[in-house]
Amino acid sequence: MENAAPLASVAEVAEAIARVDTIVDLEQLRVQWLGKKGHLTRAMQGLAGLDPEQRRARGAELNQQKNAIQDLLEQRRAEIDQQVLERRLASESIDVTLPGRNAVQGALHPVRQTLDWIEDYFARLGFDVADGPELEDDFHNFTALNIPEDHPARAMHDTFYLEDGRVLRTHTSPVQVRYLAEHQAPLRMIATGRVYRRDSDLTHTPMFHQVEGLYLDEGASFADLRGLLADFLQEFFGSSSLPVRFRPSYFPFTEPSAEVDVGCVICNGEGCRVCKNTGWLEVLGCGMVHPAVLEMAKVDQEQFTGFAFGLGVERLTMLRYGIHDLRLFFENDLRFLRQFA
Ligand SMILES: [Zn+2]
Repeated sequence: MENAAPLASVAEVAEAIARVDTIVDLEQLRVQWLGKKGHLTRAMQGLAGLDPEQRRARGAELNQQKNAIQDLLEQRRAEIDQQVLERRLASESIDVTLPGRNAVQGALHPVRQTLDWIEDYFARLGFDVADGPELEDDFHNFTALNIPEDHPARAMHDTFYLEDGRVLRTHTSPVQVRYLAEHQAPLRMIATGRVYRRDSDLTHTPMFHQVEGLYLDEGASFADLRGLLADFLQEFFGSSSLPVRFRPSYFPFTEPSAEVDVGCVICNGEGCRVCKNTGWLEVLGCGMVHPAVLEMAKVDQEQFTGFAFGLGVERLTMLRYGIHDLRLFFENDLRFLRQFA
Protein backbone atom coordinates (compact mmCIF):
# COMPACT_ATOMS: atom_id res chain seq x y z
CA MET A 1 0.00 0.00 0.00
CA GLU A 2 2.85 2.30 0.80
CA ASN A 3 4.14 2.29 -2.75
CA ALA A 4 0.78 3.09 -4.09
CA ALA A 5 0.75 6.03 -1.74
CA PRO A 6 -1.21 9.12 -2.58
CA LEU A 7 0.04 10.68 -5.75
CA ALA A 8 -0.31 14.27 -6.61
CA SER A 9 -3.40 14.71 -8.74
CA VAL A 10 -3.05 15.04 -12.49
CA ALA A 11 -4.15 18.64 -12.08
CA GLU A 12 -1.13 19.36 -9.88
CA VAL A 13 1.23 17.70 -12.36
CA ALA A 14 -0.37 19.69 -15.12
CA GLU A 15 0.30 22.87 -13.19
CA ALA A 16 3.98 21.95 -12.73
CA ILE A 17 4.29 21.15 -16.44
CA ALA A 18 2.70 24.44 -17.40
CA ARG A 19 5.23 26.37 -15.31
CA VAL A 20 8.18 24.77 -17.13
CA ASP A 21 9.41 26.61 -20.19
CA THR A 22 12.52 24.79 -21.34
CA ILE A 23 12.89 21.33 -22.82
CA VAL A 24 15.54 20.49 -20.19
CA ASP A 25 13.20 21.30 -17.27
CA LEU A 26 10.39 19.42 -18.97
CA GLU A 27 12.60 16.37 -19.32
CA GLN A 28 13.35 16.56 -15.60
CA LEU A 29 9.65 16.47 -14.85
CA ARG A 30 9.19 13.50 -17.14
CA VAL A 31 11.95 11.56 -15.36
CA GLN A 32 10.47 12.56 -12.01
CA TRP A 33 7.11 11.00 -12.91
CA LEU A 34 7.57 8.46 -15.65
CA GLY A 35 11.30 7.59 -15.36
CA LYS A 36 12.51 4.18 -14.07
CA LYS A 37 12.45 5.54 -10.53
CA GLY A 38 9.67 8.02 -11.13
CA HIS A 39 6.62 8.37 -8.89
CA LEU A 40 4.21 6.63 -11.24
CA THR A 41 6.60 3.83 -12.11
CA ARG A 42 7.12 3.07 -8.47
CA ALA A 43 3.39 3.22 -7.82
CA MET A 44 2.90 0.67 -10.61
CA GLN A 45 5.49 -1.56 -9.01
CA GLY A 46 3.59 -1.25 -5.72
CA LEU A 47 0.54 -2.83 -7.33
CA ALA A 48 2.10 -6.27 -6.84
CA GLY A 49 1.28 -6.20 -3.14
CA LEU A 50 -2.44 -5.57 -3.64
CA ASP A 51 -5.20 -8.09 -3.93
CA PRO A 52 -6.48 -8.71 -7.45
CA GLU A 53 -9.53 -6.52 -7.28
CA GLN A 54 -7.74 -3.55 -5.77
CA ARG A 55 -4.91 -4.09 -8.15
CA ARG A 56 -7.20 -3.85 -11.18
CA ALA A 57 -8.91 -0.71 -9.96
CA ARG A 58 -5.71 1.01 -8.86
CA GLY A 59 -3.86 -0.18 -11.98
CA ALA A 60 -6.49 1.36 -14.23
CA GLU A 61 -6.32 4.59 -12.28
CA LEU A 62 -2.53 4.76 -12.55
CA ASN A 63 -2.64 3.98 -16.24
CA GLN A 64 -5.07 6.77 -16.78
CA GLN A 65 -2.79 9.13 -14.87
CA LYS A 66 0.22 7.96 -16.83
CA ASN A 67 -1.53 8.56 -20.14
CA ALA A 68 -2.76 11.95 -19.02
CA ILE A 69 0.71 13.02 -17.91
CA GLN A 70 2.27 11.74 -21.13
CA ASP A 71 -0.22 13.76 -23.14
CA LEU A 72 0.49 16.86 -21.06
CA LEU A 73 4.26 16.42 -21.49
CA GLU A 74 3.94 15.99 -25.24
CA GLN A 75 1.66 18.97 -25.57
CA ARG A 76 3.99 21.16 -23.52
CA ARG A 77 7.00 19.98 -25.50
CA ALA A 78 5.30 21.00 -28.73
CA GLU A 79 4.48 24.40 -27.23
CA ILE A 80 8.06 24.99 -26.08
CA ASP A 81 9.42 23.94 -29.49
CA GLN A 82 7.05 26.39 -31.12
CA GLN A 83 8.11 29.21 -28.78
CA VAL A 84 11.78 28.54 -29.44
CA LEU A 85 11.12 28.62 -33.18
CA GLU A 86 9.14 31.84 -32.91
CA ARG A 87 11.87 33.52 -30.87
CA ARG A 88 14.47 32.49 -33.42
CA LEU A 89 12.38 33.71 -36.34
CA ALA A 90 11.78 37.01 -34.57
CA SER A 91 15.47 37.57 -33.90
CA GLU A 92 16.52 36.60 -37.43
CA SER A 93 13.68 38.24 -39.28
CA ILE A 94 14.14 40.61 -42.20
CA ASP A 95 11.48 43.23 -42.61
CA VAL A 96 11.07 43.31 -46.37
CA THR A 97 8.80 46.33 -46.12
CA LEU A 98 11.63 48.57 -44.83
CA PRO A 99 12.85 51.03 -47.44
CA GLY A 100 16.12 49.82 -48.99
CA ARG A 101 19.45 51.62 -48.86
CA ASN A 102 20.11 53.41 -52.10
CA ALA A 103 23.28 52.33 -53.86
CA VAL A 104 24.63 55.54 -55.33
CA GLN A 105 25.69 54.99 -58.92
CA GLY A 106 29.06 56.54 -59.61
CA ALA A 107 30.25 57.69 -63.01
CA LEU A 108 33.46 58.54 -64.76
CA HIS A 109 34.33 62.22 -65.02
CA PRO A 110 33.34 63.59 -68.46
CA VAL A 111 36.98 64.40 -69.24
CA ARG A 112 37.94 60.80 -68.41
CA GLN A 113 35.09 59.55 -70.60
CA THR A 114 36.42 61.58 -73.53
CA LEU A 115 39.97 60.32 -72.91
CA ASP A 116 38.71 56.73 -72.81
CA TRP A 117 36.81 57.25 -76.05
CA ILE A 118 39.85 58.73 -77.81
CA GLU A 119 42.18 56.00 -76.52
CA ASP A 120 39.74 53.33 -77.71
CA TYR A 121 39.39 54.95 -81.11
CA PHE A 122 43.12 55.09 -81.81
CA ALA A 123 43.86 51.73 -80.20
CA ARG A 124 41.45 50.18 -82.73
CA LEU A 125 43.61 51.70 -85.48
CA GLY A 126 46.73 50.08 -84.03
CA PHE A 127 48.05 53.09 -82.11
CA ASP A 128 50.04 52.47 -78.95
CA VAL A 129 48.80 54.48 -75.94
CA ALA A 130 51.93 55.86 -74.26
CA ASP A 131 52.58 57.71 -71.04
CA GLY A 132 55.35 59.96 -69.76
CA PRO A 133 56.41 62.10 -66.79
CA GLU A 134 54.57 65.33 -65.99
CA LEU A 135 57.78 66.82 -64.62
CA GLU A 136 59.95 67.26 -67.70
CA ASP A 137 63.41 68.53 -68.48
CA ASP A 138 63.95 71.38 -70.88
CA PHE A 139 65.32 69.10 -73.58
CA HIS A 140 62.23 66.85 -73.87
CA ASN A 141 59.67 69.62 -73.44
CA PHE A 142 61.32 72.10 -75.85
CA THR A 143 64.67 71.47 -77.50
CA ALA A 144 63.94 68.03 -78.94
CA LEU A 145 60.72 69.47 -80.38
CA ASN A 146 62.57 72.09 -82.36
CA ILE A 147 61.95 74.83 -79.77
CA PRO A 148 65.51 75.98 -78.93
CA GLU A 149 66.25 78.53 -76.22
CA ASP A 150 65.08 82.06 -77.05
CA HIS A 151 62.55 80.64 -79.48
CA PRO A 152 59.40 82.78 -79.24
CA ALA A 153 57.27 79.64 -78.88
CA ARG A 154 58.66 79.23 -75.38
CA ALA A 155 57.00 82.45 -74.30
CA MET A 156 53.71 81.28 -75.82
CA HIS A 157 53.72 78.27 -73.59
CA ASP A 158 53.46 80.18 -70.27
CA THR A 159 55.62 77.58 -68.61
CA PHE A 160 55.75 76.67 -64.92
CA TYR A 161 59.45 76.40 -64.08
CA LEU A 162 60.87 74.56 -61.08
CA GLU A 163 63.89 75.86 -59.20
CA ASP A 164 66.07 73.04 -60.54
CA GLY A 165 65.30 74.09 -64.13
CA ARG A 166 62.78 71.38 -64.84
CA VAL A 167 59.28 72.28 -66.02
CA LEU A 168 55.73 71.05 -65.60
CA ARG A 169 55.26 69.76 -69.12
CA THR A 170 53.39 72.28 -71.27
CA HIS A 171 52.18 69.65 -73.72
CA THR A 172 52.19 65.87 -74.18
CA SER A 173 54.65 66.12 -77.10
CA PRO A 174 57.68 65.21 -74.94
CA VAL A 175 56.16 61.73 -74.64
CA GLN A 176 56.68 61.42 -78.41
CA VAL A 177 60.35 62.28 -77.96
CA ARG A 178 60.72 59.62 -75.26
CA TYR A 179 58.78 57.10 -77.35
CA LEU A 180 60.94 57.75 -80.41
CA ALA A 181 64.05 57.07 -78.31
CA GLU A 182 62.78 53.56 -77.61
CA HIS A 183 60.87 52.59 -80.77
CA GLN A 184 61.80 52.32 -84.42
CA ALA A 185 59.66 53.49 -87.32
CA PRO A 186 57.21 52.43 -88.62
CA LEU A 187 55.15 53.31 -85.57
CA ARG A 188 51.93 54.88 -84.46
CA MET A 189 51.26 56.13 -80.95
CA ILE A 190 49.19 58.54 -78.94
CA ALA A 191 50.17 60.12 -75.63
CA THR A 192 47.46 61.30 -73.26
CA GLY A 193 47.65 63.13 -69.95
CA ARG A 194 47.78 66.30 -67.90
CA VAL A 195 49.68 69.37 -69.06
CA TYR A 196 50.29 72.71 -67.32
CA ARG A 197 50.33 76.36 -68.32
CA ARG A 198 50.24 79.63 -66.38
CA ASP A 199 46.86 80.58 -67.71
CA SER A 200 43.46 80.91 -66.07
CA ASP A 201 40.16 82.31 -67.37
CA LEU A 202 36.79 81.13 -68.73
CA THR A 203 38.39 78.90 -71.32
CA HIS A 204 41.83 78.24 -69.79
CA THR A 205 42.86 76.41 -66.62
CA PRO A 206 46.44 75.97 -65.32
CA MET A 207 46.05 72.21 -65.76
CA PHE A 208 44.27 70.51 -68.61
CA HIS A 209 44.44 67.31 -70.65
CA GLN A 210 45.98 66.78 -74.04
CA VAL A 211 46.17 64.00 -76.55
CA GLU A 212 49.13 63.93 -78.89
CA GLY A 213 49.44 61.55 -81.83
CA LEU A 214 52.40 60.47 -83.91
CA TYR A 215 52.40 58.36 -87.07
CA LEU A 216 55.57 57.36 -88.89
CA ASP A 217 55.56 55.12 -91.92
CA GLU A 218 56.84 54.77 -95.45
CA GLY A 219 54.93 57.19 -97.61
CA ALA A 220 52.84 58.67 -94.78
CA SER A 221 51.33 61.79 -96.30
CA PHE A 222 49.28 64.84 -95.46
CA ALA A 223 46.35 63.16 -97.22
CA ASP A 224 46.58 60.27 -94.73
CA LEU A 225 46.58 62.80 -91.89
CA ARG A 226 43.50 64.54 -93.30
CA GLY A 227 41.63 61.28 -93.74
CA LEU A 228 42.46 60.04 -90.25
CA LEU A 229 41.52 63.25 -88.46
CA ALA A 230 38.34 63.86 -90.46
CA ASP A 231 37.14 60.35 -89.63
CA PHE A 232 38.11 60.79 -85.98
CA LEU A 233 36.24 64.08 -85.61
CA GLN A 234 33.15 62.91 -87.46
CA GLU A 235 32.95 59.81 -85.32
CA PHE A 236 33.63 61.75 -82.11
CA PHE A 237 30.82 64.22 -82.78
CA GLY A 238 28.56 61.48 -84.15
CA SER A 239 27.99 62.94 -87.61
CA SER A 240 29.47 61.52 -90.80
CA SER A 241 28.54 64.74 -92.62
CA LEU A 242 30.27 67.06 -90.14
CA PRO A 243 32.32 69.58 -92.17
CA VAL A 244 36.07 69.45 -91.41
CA ARG A 245 38.55 71.99 -92.76
CA PHE A 246 42.31 72.43 -92.51
CA ARG A 247 43.84 75.92 -92.23
CA PRO A 248 47.54 76.60 -92.63
CA SER A 249 49.16 77.36 -89.31
CA TYR A 250 52.49 77.27 -87.52
CA PHE A 251 53.96 74.91 -84.93
CA PRO A 252 57.71 74.59 -84.36
CA PHE A 253 57.65 70.77 -84.52
CA THR A 254 55.62 70.29 -87.72
CA GLU A 255 56.05 71.53 -91.27
CA PRO A 256 53.69 72.14 -92.95
CA SER A 257 51.33 72.73 -90.05
CA ALA A 258 47.56 73.11 -89.96
CA GLU A 259 44.79 73.94 -87.58
CA VAL A 260 41.66 71.88 -87.94
CA ASP A 261 38.12 73.26 -87.64
CA VAL A 262 34.79 71.48 -87.62
CA GLY A 263 31.46 73.04 -88.52
CA CYS A 264 30.04 74.45 -85.28
CA VAL A 265 28.27 71.58 -83.52
CA ILE A 266 26.27 74.04 -81.39
CA CYS A 267 24.60 76.06 -84.18
CA ASN A 268 25.25 73.70 -87.13
CA GLY A 269 27.34 76.38 -88.83
CA GLU A 270 24.75 79.16 -88.66
CA GLY A 271 26.75 81.28 -86.24
CA CYS A 272 26.51 81.51 -82.45
CA ARG A 273 28.33 82.79 -79.37
CA VAL A 274 30.49 79.65 -79.08
CA CYS A 275 31.81 79.83 -82.66
CA LYS A 276 31.90 83.66 -82.47
CA ASN A 277 29.48 83.70 -85.41
CA THR A 278 32.00 82.11 -87.76
CA GLY A 279 30.17 78.76 -88.01
CA TRP A 280 33.49 76.98 -87.33
CA LEU A 281 35.17 75.60 -84.22
CA GLU A 282 38.92 75.12 -83.95
CA VAL A 283 39.48 71.66 -82.45
CA LEU A 284 43.06 70.53 -83.04
CA GLY A 285 46.49 71.23 -84.46
CA CYS A 286 48.52 68.98 -86.71
CA GLY A 287 51.16 68.73 -89.40
CA MET A 288 53.92 66.69 -90.98
CA VAL A 289 56.67 66.03 -88.45
CA HIS A 290 59.43 68.66 -88.86
CA PRO A 291 62.65 67.28 -90.39
CA ALA A 292 64.62 68.73 -87.44
CA VAL A 293 62.54 66.67 -85.01
CA LEU A 294 63.01 63.50 -87.07
CA GLU A 295 66.72 64.18 -87.26
CA MET A 296 67.04 64.59 -83.49
CA ALA A 297 65.13 61.32 -83.10
CA LYS A 298 67.49 59.68 -85.63
CA VAL A 299 64.67 58.58 -87.91
CA ASP A 300 65.78 57.60 -91.42
CA GLN A 301 64.12 60.36 -93.45
CA GLU A 302 64.92 58.71 -96.75
CA GLN A 303 62.59 55.90 -95.78
CA PHE A 304 60.03 57.36 -93.38
CA THR A 305 57.77 60.36 -93.16
CA GLY A 306 55.25 61.08 -90.51
CA PHE A 307 52.61 63.32 -89.09
CA ALA A 308 51.57 64.46 -85.65
CA PHE A 309 48.50 66.01 -84.10
CA GLY A 310 47.46 67.37 -80.75
CA LEU A 311 44.17 68.29 -79.14
CA GLY A 312 42.74 69.60 -75.88
CA VAL A 313 40.50 67.07 -74.20
CA GLU A 314 38.50 69.59 -72.15
CA ARG A 315 37.68 71.61 -75.23
CA LEU A 316 36.45 68.58 -77.16
CA THR A 317 34.40 67.50 -74.14
CA MET A 318 32.82 70.97 -73.83
CA LEU A 319 31.84 70.98 -77.48
CA ARG A 320 30.52 67.45 -77.40
CA TYR A 321 28.21 68.12 -74.42
CA GLY A 322 27.52 71.82 -74.99
CA ILE A 323 29.28 72.93 -71.79
CA HIS A 324 30.12 76.64 -71.74
CA ASP A 325 32.36 77.01 -68.71
CA LEU A 326 35.62 75.06 -68.52
CA ARG A 327 35.79 75.54 -64.74
CA LEU A 328 32.80 73.19 -64.23
CA PHE A 329 35.17 70.29 -64.92
CA PHE A 330 37.27 71.10 -61.87
CA GLU A 331 34.71 72.22 -59.28
CA ASN A 332 33.53 68.68 -58.45
CA ASP A 333 29.92 69.80 -58.24
CA LEU A 334 27.95 66.55 -58.13
CA ARG A 335 24.88 68.18 -59.71
CA PHE A 336 27.04 68.79 -62.78
CA LEU A 337 28.92 65.49 -62.75
CA ARG A 338 25.82 63.31 -62.25
CA GLN A 339 24.58 64.32 -65.67
CA PHE A 340 27.32 62.17 -67.19
CA ALA A 341 26.37 58.97 -65.35
ZN1 LIG B 1 28.17 78.15 -83.60
